[in-house]
Amino acid sequence: MFPDEFDYHEAESVDHAVELLGEYGGQQVELLAGGHSLLPAMKTGLSSPDVLVDLGDVDELHGVRADGDTLSIGAMTRYSDLLDADAAREHAPAMTAAVAEVGDAQVRNRGTVGGNLAHADPASDLPGAALVSDATLVAQGPDGEREIPAEEFFYGMYATDLAEDELLTRVEVPVADGAVGAYAKKPSPSSGYAIIGVSVLLDVDGSTVTDARVGANGVVGQGVLLPSVADAIEGGSIDDDSAANAASRATDDVDEAMLMDDLQASGEFRAQLLEVYAERALLEAAEEASAPAAAD
Ligand SMILES: Cc1cc2nc3c(=O)[nH]c(=O)nc-3n(C[C@H](O)[C@H](O)[C@H](O)COP(=O)(O)OP(=O)(O)OC[C@H]3O[C@@H](n4cnc5c(N)ncnc54)[C@H](O)[C@@H]3O)c2cc1C
Repeated sequence: MFPDEFDYHEAESVDHAVELLGEYGGQQVELLAGGHSLLPAMKTGLSSPDVLVDLGDVDELHGVRADGDTLSIGAMTRYSDLLDADAAREHAPAMTAAVAEVGDAQVRNRGTVGGNLAHADPASDLPGAALVSDATLVAQGPDGEREIPAEEFFYGMYATDLAEDELLTRVEVPVADGAVGAYAKKPSPSSGYAIIGVSVLLDVDGSTVTDARVGANGVVGQGVLLPSVADAIEGGSIDDDSAANAASRATDDVDEAMLMDDLQASGEFRAQLLEVYAERALLEAAEEASAPAAAD
């Protein structure tokens, strides 16, 4: 199927992109990042923008920079570039663990971190990782920059705090040196998207978990934090029993009435998967935490 006709503009800078968003306000404008969600939606008629603003040549949106205690990920950073960045693997382990599970090599070579978060697909892999990483999403609009904590960014299915005249410019992640990240995902057999995906970020001292953050995708319309699981695992070590016990609290943090229920999985099945994948993510993180010690 072919998309409807649209106007096409190449943004030269962030300011230029904001200018274009303002100029065509009132019409449906879409930002073209990796195009891996937008173009299929246009081809199937789910999205028929009047105007496309291509962000591909906006250099300031690309790349990963460590700046003091913050790791800054440009919105147009492709998944594969994030995975190739030593600073990202070192300072943002929950983000890289989740990005490594996105689609296949072709998707990771084109799709962008900013496009993924702005699109806010409930089956995406990155919202849970952004939540456990305590990320701040930075938007730019006609009135300048605005910082949005990840916990306030996701509203629901495909809905975020971004205004129509704003674009996401970067994701700022507090440097998590020494922390370990993990992501356990039940992929859809047909699309590879997450039916359930659980992100974990742990600080570990010896074998004791001193701080834990746990979040999930695919459970309800937006990514969620699972503080009951994190609380249950903090202060002790992770083994099969403690991981299973902590994971059994996962549904305490989810409104059962809001569980996603679709052809991929019923709400009841998702709740069961959530516990299973929370346990797996905790065990993976524990294995990761013990890996350097084992190498010594
Ligand atoms: C075969 C296939 C398999 C996939 N598997 C997975 C998977 O396993 N896990 C997963 O998470 N994703 C998966 N995806 C989706 C992929 O990760 C997309 O790349 C991602 O969802 C959107 O990022 P993008 O850069 O391609 O954005 P685009 O498709 O270009 O844009 C998506 C939307 O975000 C908006 N947008 C883009 N950039 C910005 C910005 N900077 N500011 C504001 N709005 C913006 C656009 O206007 C558009 O509405 C898959 C896609 C395909 C085709």
